[in-house]
Amino acid sequence: MAAMRLRHLYRHRNFWEWSCALPVPHVDLFGHKLNKDRNERLASIHITPQDVLLVVDVQNDFCPGGALAVAEGDAVIPAIHRIAPLFQHIILTQDWHNPDHSSFASVHPGKQPFEQINLSYGSQTLWPDHCIQGSKGAEHHPALTLPRAELVLRKGFDREIDSYSAFFENDRTTPTGLGGYLKERNLTRVFIAGLAYDYCVGYSALDARSLGLPAVILRDACRAIDLNGSVAKIEAELAAAGVVIAQTTDLSV
Ligand SMILES: [Zn+2]
Repeated sequence: MAAMRLRHLYRHRNFWEWSCALPVPHVDLFGHKLNKDRNERLASIHITPQDVLLVVDVQNDFCPGGALAVAEGDAVIPAIHRIAPLFQHIILTQDWHNPDHSSFASVHPGKQPFEQINLSYGSQTLWPDHCIQGSKGAEHHPALTLPRAELVLRKGFDREIDSYSAFFENDRTTPTGLGGYLKERNLTRVFIAGLAYDYCVGYSALDARSLGLPAVILRDACRAIDLNGSVAKIEAELAAAGVVIAQTTDLSV
């Protein structure tokens, strides 16, 4: 080995040239080694016992036939099932509104779904009535089978405030408790899948970052609403916040 090194040194008599020939230890923001070629795609993200899979709002009302259907919403389910076995920790969220929730266009006379309105905490998009507590539409899609999920976090149950994010309501300050749960259980990195990419998934990823947690969105396990440029808007914010966008095929144990 020493002889090989010497020969290597001799071949690169110039030390600078030699040092440049050494493999550079590239790592990603999680400390995982990247491929030697800087431009080569990260081959694999290794899932650890401290990682959590957050499955956002895979509910009947967000799937085809539902009150606020996301195109191909149910197509996220096979992708989620494929990666779920990699995770020791799985958490589900469930949009869970009062029948007269302030995010419903129906409670604002003269307003239509998808219009913007100003509420006490700022701008809010108005939606069709959806995910009403106890309704069929609020149930998780029947094809979603994740019996190991350890927590079902309901959100949006305060009549006055909507909650896109799994971490904070739409005033961006009222916590749902999920941040505390992850902290107490020492779950330190969040992988997010579900519906919809440009709203509840994206906001959850931004808030995970605001709590200092690395966040990865599994893009092929999400579908978007794409309302008035919402995908481009959230992607700019995700990039600025350092959210990693990956594919389910990037994951391994
Ligand atoms: Zn909602």
